[in-house]
Amino acid sequence: MELLKEKIRREGKVISGDILKVDSFLNHQIDPVLMLKVGEEFARRFGGEVINKVLTVEASGIAVALMTGLVLRVPVVFAKKRQPSTIGSGAYRGQVRSFTREEVVDIVVAGSYLGPGDRVLIIDDFLASGEAARGLLEIVEQAGAEVAGVGIVIEKVFQSGGDYLRRQGMRVESLVQIGSLEGGNIEFLN
Ligand code: 5GP
Repeated sequence: MELLKEKIRREGKVISGDILKVDSFLNHQIDPVLMLKVGEEFARRFGGEVINKVLTVEASGIAVALMTGLVLRVPVVFAKKRQPSTIGSGAYRGQVRSFTREEVVDIVVAGSYLGPGDRVLIIDDFLASGEAARGLLEIVEQAGAEVAGVGIVIEKVFQSGGDYLRRQGMRVESLVQIGSLEGGNIEFLN
């Protein structure tokens, strides 16, 4: 997605060798026009799949997932990182090691928002080591639902997450693939 690459070239900053900071349009301030285009692109790519729910994890996945759900006209569920007292019984849980914060967090989705018969599109902002996606897959499995695919805005292919998911037979669509951030240079694939 050329528009996204341009935005990353202009506004992305490389931090500590393997982290890309895109706070100006994705992770802190959000560019809603770009997010809608991202949602439209995911909807186009997964157009041949039956999808009745979009699933992400708070917080940075929500904007992208919301736009995707808007275009697909399906509900968006986000896994919560803190268990609210209102969650009820029968919730689904997963564990995610945070790539940027170096901590393990429990993620949870209420039993009423996912279940057998659901075909789920998993969406996230970044794919690095695949921990967030793995936690969401755990939740989909517990719910007895099916995964239609995984949509990622920025995949860092020099980390292992994409390989792992594709080896599981998962359909992974990344809008932008980054081959290297070495020396502070952002190298795109394709
Ligand atoms: P993973 O679980 O695949 O290791 O990492 C994915 C999660 O970590 C994403 O949800 C994202 O929030 C965060 N993340 C991983 N790599 C980066 C990065 O380079 N930049 C930013 N801003 N977030 C990242």
